[in-house]
Amino acid sequence: MERTLSIIKPDAVKKNVIGKIIDRFENNGLRVVSIKKILLSEVIAGNFYAIHKERPFFNDLVRFMTSGSVVVIVLEGENAVKKNRELMGDTDPKKAIKGTIRADFAESIDANAVHGSDSLENAKNEIAFFFSQAEIQ
Ligand code: ADP
Ligand code: MG
Repeated sequence: MERTLSIIKPDAVKKNVIGKIIDRFENNGLRVVSIKKILLSEVIAGNFYAIHKERPFFNDLVRFMTSGSVVVIVLEGENAVKKNRELMGDTDPKKAIKGTIRADFAESIDANAVHGSDSLENAKNEIAFFFSQAEIQ
C-alpha cells in the first residue's frame, strides 16, 4: 500500500469536474484518505512548487495555482504513486493519451487539471506539506 498526493487544480474546479476526477481514482483502485478544498496563497503555492523556482514558467504556475480554489487529496492504494501518474496522463494534455484525466479535462500545459506526486519520497513530503497527522489517520 502506498499513499500519494493529488491536487485538482483551479481549471478543473471551475469546470465543476471534481467528482468526475475522483471517480477515476475510485474506479481504478485508489481510495480517498483525506480531502480538502482550499485557496492557496502565493507563499504556499510558491513553497509547494519550490523545485521549479528557476523554471521560466514558475511565476505563471504560482499565479495559476492561486487563481481559484484547489482540492487537495491523499490517495491510497497499491502502487498509488505510479497509478495516479498513469491516470493523470502527460503533463501536456495535447500529448496525453485519450482516457487520461489531462486528455479528457484539460486544455493546456499550464492549466492541466491535476497535480500528482512523482515519487514515493515526494509523496510523503507533499502529504505532510498539506495535512496534519490527525487528518490522515
Ligand atoms: P507534472 O505536473 O506532470 O509533474 P512538472 O512537475 O514538470 O509536471 O511541472 C509542474 C507543473 O508546472 C505542470 O503540471 C504544469 O502546470 C507546469 N508546467 C510544466 N511545464 C510547463 C511549461 N513548459 N509551460 C508552462 N507550464 C508548465
Ligand atoms: Mg511534477
